[in-house]
Amino acid sequence: MTKRLSRNMVAAHLREIGIDFVLVPARRSAEAANLPAREGEENLEDILNEVVACRRCPLCSGRTNVVFGVGNPRARLMFVGEGPGAEEDRQGEPFVGAAGRLLTKWIERIGIVRQDVYIANIVKCRPPGNRAPLPEEAAACLPYLRRQIRAIRPEIICTLGGVALNHLLGNNDRITRARGNWRDLDGIPVLPTYHPAYILRNATREHEVVADFDLLAQRLRSG
Ligand code: SF4
Repeated sequence: MTKRLSRNMVAAHLREIGIDFVLVPARRSAEAANLPAREGEENLEDILNEVVACRRCPLCSGRTNVVFGVGNPRARLMFVGEGPGAEEDRQGEPFVGAAGRLLTKWIERIGIVRQDVYIANIVKCRPPGNRAPLPEEAAACLPYLRRQIRAIRPEIICTLGGVALNHLLGNNDRITRARGNWRDLDGIPVLPTYHPAYILRNATREHEVVADFDLLAQRLRSG
C-alpha cells in the first residue's frame, strides 16, 4: 500500500535531502472546492455510479474492481494513464504498486502530495495480461474519462505513456518525440511524458520525466 504523506511531511523530506523548492498549490481554495456544480455539470459520483455497472466492452468480464480514478475532485493537475494492472484491479485504485510509487515520487518531488492531484486511466477495467487496451475498448471507455475531465476542470493534464497520449488526443504520435511538448485538449494544456512502468525498465530516461515534471510545476506556479 502506498504511504500517504501530508504536504508538511513532503516539505520536510525535500528540505532534508537538500532540494530547494516552492510548494505548488495543487488544491484549489476551499471556496473553489466547495463550489456547486455549474448547470448541466456532473459530479464524479454520478459518473462513478454508471461506471461500476458498465458492460460496454468485453473488459468488464475480467475485472475484479472497476478502477475509476482517485484524488482531489477539484485538482489543478490531472494524470491520465493507460489502464489498470493486476494490483490496481485488486485494489480498485490506479497507480499502486511499483509504478504507482514512482509516480508518487515524481509528484512529491515538485512539492505536491498525491491526494492533491487526480489520477485516472483511459480504460477503467483491466485488460488481460496487462496488454494495452484495444482501440474499440478505449473508444467505449473514453466518454467516461471525458466526463471526469469536465467535472474536475483541471488546469493541466499530464498523460503517462504513449497509449494514454494517443487515445486521449486521438493521434498516433510517438511518445519519444511528443514528451515534454505541450498539447491542447479543448483548451486544457496537456503535457505527455513517459509511463512510470516504462521508466522502471529504462531508468536512464528518468531525467526526461524529471524535466517534464519541472514544466508541470512551472505552469502551476504561473497559473
Ligand atoms: S473498460 Fe470501460 S467501457 Fe469497458 S466495461 Fe470497463 S468501464 Fe465499461
